[in-house]
Amino acid sequence: MQIFNVLGREKQAFTPIHEGRVGMYVCGPTVYEHSHLGHAKTYVSFDVVARYLRYRGFDLLYVQNITDVGHLRANEEDRVLVRAAQLNAKPMQVVETYTRSYFEDMDALGVQRPDISPRASGHVPEQIEMIEALIAKDHAYAVDGNVYFDVLSDADYGKLSNRRVEEQQDESRDLIGSGKRHPVDFALWKKAEPEHILRWNSPWGVGFPGWHIECSAMARKYLGANFDIHGGGIDNIYPHNENEIAQSECANDADFANYWMLTGSLNVLDPDEGIPVKMSKSLGNYITIKDALEEYRPQELRYFILTSHYSNPVVYSDEALASAKSGWERLMNALRLVRQQMNSAPEGDAGAGFRERLTQAREDFGQVMDDDFNSPRGIAVLQDLTRDVNILLNSETEVGVDTLAAINDTYETLGGDVLGLAPAADGTASGDSQREAALIDMLIAMRAQARADRDYARSDEIRDQLAGLGISLEDRADGTIWKLQ
Ligand SMILES: [Zn+2]
Repeated sequence: MQIFNVLGREKQAFTPIHEGRVGMYVCGPTVYEHSHLGHAKTYVSFDVVARYLRYRGFDLLYVQNITDVGHLRANEEDRVLVRAAQLNAKPMQVVETYTRSYFEDMDALGVQRPDISPRASGHVPEQIEMIEALIAKDHAYAVDGNVYFDVLSDADYGKLSNRRVEEQQDESRDLIGSGKRHPVDFALWKKAEPEHILRWNSPWGVGFPGWHIECSAMARKYLGANFDIHGGGIDNIYPHNENEIAQSECANDADFANYWMLTGSLNVLDPDEGIPVKMSKSLGNYITIKDALEEYRPQELRYFILTSHYSNPVVYSDEALASAKSGWERLMNALRLVRQQMNSAPEGDAGAGFRERLTQAREDFGQVMDDDFNSPRGIAVLQDLTRDVNILLNSETEVGVDTLAAINDTYETLGGDVLGLAPAADGTASGDSQREAALIDMLIAMRAQARADRDYARSDEIRDQLAGLGISLEDRADGTIWKLQ
């Protein structure tokens, strides 16, 4: 397997530290608002990375944190506290509300939950311990209840984002009155003013942790000082990821993550300028996942996200979603046809020659996904297979149940288990498509009964009403099948 390692900016062979096992840490959300589609892109992308690693037989431990304290705005206000004041709620109410909202959204999108979702507020002792180690090693210093990381003490600082300390003078405003030795030094611990609600005792007085230290402390706790993959969104490369590396490597005297994988941002076209701009809370141009799910199926959103490479930016538009919708429906119509024919096909493995085509699809899929998790090419492999499946099913060739089951299994493994696009036929996958299919089958049975009763007005009405919902019926010798238009 090959991974494009942002640390070093090159594609490298993937060799885990312990054979057969992978430790992966991905920076999670700050829970003070509902998540938007930009978050969906990052977490669906890493969901597929996790699913594919497991498909390849790795024993994966996936850790993704929840930031519920310490993520400060540029003016050093805690985002959670600002939101709590707006909502007239307690900070932990805000955090709980939006943590639940985040998991609801991820569950709806078919994102499998990380193995561990540690919260920053639940790991303050671990963060204090790491800050103490950094002070003891002269990589950090305490001033008036605050503790700062001494960036000049770390010769490697800037290696992920390729930034040089000398270029960071623009932050000099932070120096005034802060007690920092250098403008680029960043807070590990902040003194809490009397009105600051989230506060803990520490060797430096009452305060709260800086944002970056949580990821260093929680990654070490659950994955060890040195682990395999660190992921996140590209916009956090500096300063957040850079600071994580500095803290961890200086505190642990060990390399931090061996491979850095960062997702490209989700953009929208600026209505005035016509150029892509990042979807973000601060620009106010975002669409929440909940709103998007009112309009589109979760699998359509996943398809849209996965048809570009995780590291690339992608532009969200109605046209792009419409195209994703028709691409996904093409796969699903073929899969549905396979499942329908399985109900009436003859026993045995007639059409077994097609199994070679299935083996080829699995090999092609593995090859493109081994190449830095290339999901757009993985989807293209499924679309190529779908063309041949359609030819097979519409030909005169009789196809036996065993062959159809093998086709179904290929879709469920590659399209379902790995990409999360194909619901399983047994109802174990997400409920909505299952329920929809069962309802349509029920209406088809009612229409068949109406025709048997010679009530053609009724049977036409059922067909027309389904057509009005975008579902077309096709009567065949062996029964009626349906398709999404
Ligand atoms: Zn982080």
